[in-house]
Amino acid sequence: MQIAKVRVDLSLDREFDYLVPPHWAGHIELGSRVRVPFGRRKILGTVVAWAGLETPREDLKPISEIIGDRTIFTPEILRLARWMSDYYICPLEQSLRCLVPSAVQKAQIKGKRRRKSVSDDGEAVEHVQKRFELTADQRKALEFVRGALEEEAPAPILLHGATGSGKTEVYLQAIEAILKAGKSAIMLVPEIALTPQTIERFQSRFGGGKQSALIAILHSHLSAGERYHEWQRLRKGEARIAIGARSVVFAPMRNLGLIVVDEEHEGSYKQEEAPRYHARNVAVMRGKLEGALVMLGSATPSMESFYNVQTRKYRLCSLPKRVDEIQMPLVRVVDMRDEALRQKGLRIFSETLKEGIQKRLERKEQTILFLNRRGYSTSMLCPACGHVPQCDQCAIPFTYHRALSKLMCHLCGTEKPAPSICEACKSPEVRFTGLGTEKVEEGIKKLFPQARMARMDSDTMTRKHAYAETLMDFRRGKIDILLGTQMIAKGLDFPNVTLVGIVYADMALHMPDFRAGERTFQLLTQVAGRAGRGDVTGEVVVQTFTPHHSAIQFARHHDFIGFYEEEIAYREQLDYPPYSHLVVIELSAVQETEVDFVAHWLQKEISEKISKHVTLLGPAVPPMAKLRGRHRRQILLRSRVMKSLAKVLHPLLGKIPRQKSVRVTVDVDALNLM
Ligand code: ADP
Ligand code: ZN
Ligand code: ZN
Repeated sequence: MQIAKVRVDLSLDREFDYLVPPHWAGHIELGSRVRVPFGRRKILGTVVAWAGLETPREDLKPISEIIGDRTIFTPEILRLARWMSDYYICPLEQSLRCLVPSAVQKAQIKGKRRRKSVSDDGEAVEHVQKRFELTADQRKALEFVRGALEEEAPAPILLHGATGSGKTEVYLQAIEAILKAGKSAIMLVPEIALTPQTIERFQSRFGGGKQSALIAILHSHLSAGERYHEWQRLRKGEARIAIGARSVVFAPMRNLGLIVVDEEHEGSYKQEEAPRYHARNVAVMRGKLEGALVMLGSATPSMESFYNVQTRKYRLCSLPKRVDEIQMPLVRVVDMRDEALRQKGLRIFSETLKEGIQKRLERKEQTILFLNRRGYSTSMLCPACGHVPQCDQCAIPFTYHRALSKLMCHLCGTEKPAPSICEACKSPEVRFTGLGTEKVEEGIKKLFPQARMARMDSDTMTRKHAYAETLMDFRRGKIDILLGTQMIAKGLDFPNVTLVGIVYADMALHMPDFRAGERTFQLLTQVAGRAGRGDVTGEVVVQTFTPHHSAIQFARHHDFIGFYEEEIAYREQLDYPPYSHLVVIELSAVQETEVDFVAHWLQKEISEKISKHVTLLGPAVPPMAKLRGRHRRQILLRSRVMKSLAKVLHPLLGKIPRQKSVRVTVDVDALNLM
């Protein structure tokens, strides 16, 4: 009799043996969802392996029930789940849970019957939207894809293309080539709702006639049943293109040929709950396991990915120019320190930006205003000299804690009283940064009462279709000024936008995070890329207190390589990623003494077991010292190799003194240090 190893849906990090009843032999596969007796209950689980051929033990219980008529995992995806558990240090049960959207699992339990769908009879591709004659650079990128179809283990490609250089067209034609070869493709986008134009292009290219059956768009508005249905269509090979956000990297494709990760630098690819995977890294691993090509695209590649080009793990393809001779926008950097002197005090808008908006209103052209108001806490800034107090050891800005009137470094825990005068120039006028979109909206209404404006941020875009509707109004010219947060930074292509104003570029720069420079460069470049996509050359006005900061200067000159070279030197010097892996262990508890106790215990255990090449910092108080009534602590680890560190950490986490009140999470390759 066959014995199955089952992981039950409790994160026990253990496998249990069950008998496969003889009449089910052949029906249960690896990845099958089953119900099994467990103690006095029956609970759900997943078959993850077959037990060896040793004689069956008497005490084994049989599996009670198989859920669904076939698995929604493929064996390849099971292997991916194991890798995820090892790498991201989490129980396999947790990885399995995130492989299949919970809606899909629930629908599977209810035994949703599949609806009839149009079958794909493999006929020639009918296009609704026309294909472009590719530029020479685009053709070169496509050649890589054709070549990769012949390769057994193709190395990933990084497609570095300026904003408006035609990356999307390359993805579209690459996917066509994959379909022609009889294979399937996954297309990852940062957020479906925020990339309506990209989705539209895929729909119009592949969505017509018989082809519509080939594409599965997994957006968040699908019902549980619809989602399940789409997954089954992919699993059966009826649909061969899966488009969606992060979790679509696990789509059960048959004969996978290509995974595209658009805007690969985007932070939303990282899942901020366990397992804290990064969809781009999972895509690269999946490509390796299944021999599929992985194509990462961005105008502002992450430091990690470009470093992988330098070390020859990835191949580079560049689209340096915008298509159709369209010029990159002209970027003006406005020094707000001078502006404060001239306008006798801090104002939201510089003269340059005010005049720019006025001109656009007169010419009936459109303006996008951008203000990145993320983060809860403010840093200190001297408006006279632009100085921001930083931690000497970590080279990141201190975080100002108002209640304690202290400056704190959350990386190493250093703290000091907040100075009342600027440390650099002794000006008594130190300020705490804190400008939001609401205040900017007020300012616009006062200055340009006749302008039609819309504000786009998570406070105003709460209705289901608000985002799409506002964008539609903007496209139709019903809005003159669109003000927004990073919601408007991505992928938008409006030819009548000739001015982009970045209200306060330093906002992202002074986050207490070593990636602040990188994020600022990315944001500025992406937002600036919204300008001048039509016939009129675009203009970008960047308002800043630190006009000479390299992130701002390199963005101004559209110089990614220059930025990368400077930034990578700094990362190497401080041994930050991509030179090392950064692991953040976060602990929290209602009682401060409890969290301190466990944090120190863990710190001691880890420091005894790690090699001398691993750096351990903390426990420190993170910038958000208290969250939802819980006190927080962080332990930070940096290591050049992840494998050996994971081997030390994984068993330790199971041994933490059983204090239910203390929550511990591990974040490998953490992006969020708050
Ligand atoms: P990116 O994704 O790099 O920002 P897009 O793919 O959106 O760039 O291309 C920018 C614009 O150029 C789009 O409007 C697109 O339709 C158009 N385009 C892309 N490739 C070509 C081409 N080979 N010839 C003409 N127009 C093109
Ligand atoms: Zn520090
Ligand atoms: Zn100063």
